[in-house]
Amino acid sequence: MKWEDNVRKVVPYVAGEQPQKKGIIKLNTNECPYPPSPKVEGRMKQMDYQDLRLYPEFSEKTMLSDMLVSYHGIGKEQIFIGVGSDDVLSMAFLTFFNSDKPVFFPDITYSFYDVWAEVYGIPYEVKPLDDDFCIRREDYLKENGGIVFPNPNAPTGVFMDVSEIEEIIAANRDVVVIVDEAYIDFGGTSALPLINKYDNLLIVRTFSKSRAMAGARIGYAMGNERLIRYLNDVKYSVNSYTMNRMALELGAACMEDDAYFKEICSKIIATRERTAKELTALGFTFPPSYGNFIFAAHNKVKAQDIFEKLKKHDIYVRYWNKPRIDNYLRITIGTDEQMDALFAALREILA
Ligand SMILES: *Cc1c(COP(=O)(O)O)cnc(C)c1O
Repeated sequence: MKWEDNVRKVVPYVAGEQPQKKGIIKLNTNECPYPPSPKVEGRMKQMDYQDLRLYPEFSEKTMLSDMLVSYHGIGKEQIFIGVGSDDVLSMAFLTFFNSDKPVFFPDITYSFYDVWAEVYGIPYEVKPLDDDFCIRREDYLKENGGIVFPNPNAPTGVFMDVSEIEEIIAANRDVVVIVDEAYIDFGGTSALPLINKYDNLLIVRTFSKSRAMAGARIGYAMGNERLIRYLNDVKYSVNSYTMNRMALELGAACMEDDAYFKEICSKIIATRERTAKELTALGFTFPPSYGNFIFAAHNKVKAQDIFEKLKKHDIYVRYWNKPRIDNYLRITIGTDEQMDALFAALREILA
């Protein structure tokens, strides 16, 4: 068809499977195995459907925004809210990566980064992680158009010390450095305090993992006021009302319950440590994880075989048939019961 010459053609990001079958054990997309805070349920029941006729408030002027600002001890002008961190990151790519020089990110990382770079026509170069899946700082000291990486990294779970991150930021004051902290609540230390020292640092967070609200689609970014202003200028040039009323309300309710948040994070960390011991006993090796997942390879059986066989046990984990990681499985930390079912299935498969 002739019109196809004018079409923007992209190879889309492929998310983990979302099987609709009941009773499966879903350890493939790093969702939280626990429900959101009971405060979220309470708020949901109080919501009045008639309010839906009205447009939502501007995200930066909402209760959710106020709560995030006070929670993190940042200024009102230092926050940007979006439809999950995917929306926040996508807007940040569009806003900040507008140079002819390549943007840098690791070869093994969140597989959405290259997709956004492609769709927005941003030049990029991937920088190979070392053999222990660590970021090599020296790779990020060359001239570039911006830098982005998750900390802890995904899908490896490897955490990079904030002092090392600071070195990268300090050496790149002429470009924006985005640190995607999707998994920071599972034991790592945030680089957030650096936003007041470096005006080129953007920290991105999500409610999808540690706050058990992937379905609500809430993400946010924090940074220097000027960075946030540019981000809002682009956002308000695309869609003024990205966040819906329900997500804004439920996100605020979630923020009211810090005790519950801390409780589910520490439960997941405890289950992760137990899982690490069990997986080691079963013959897996993996880098130490600071996420709600473990990225593991077995010393005898191929990852793809295990992946397929686990599916037959109705257990879904994540597998990528990609260079360097095609013998690894990314296993999300579920409840203790779910992990016990996983260990039992693995014992059978590996026997
Ligand atoms: C899950 C994830 C995101 C996106 O999460 P949202 O649900 O869009 O908030 C972003 N970055 C990384 C590294 C992730 O793993």
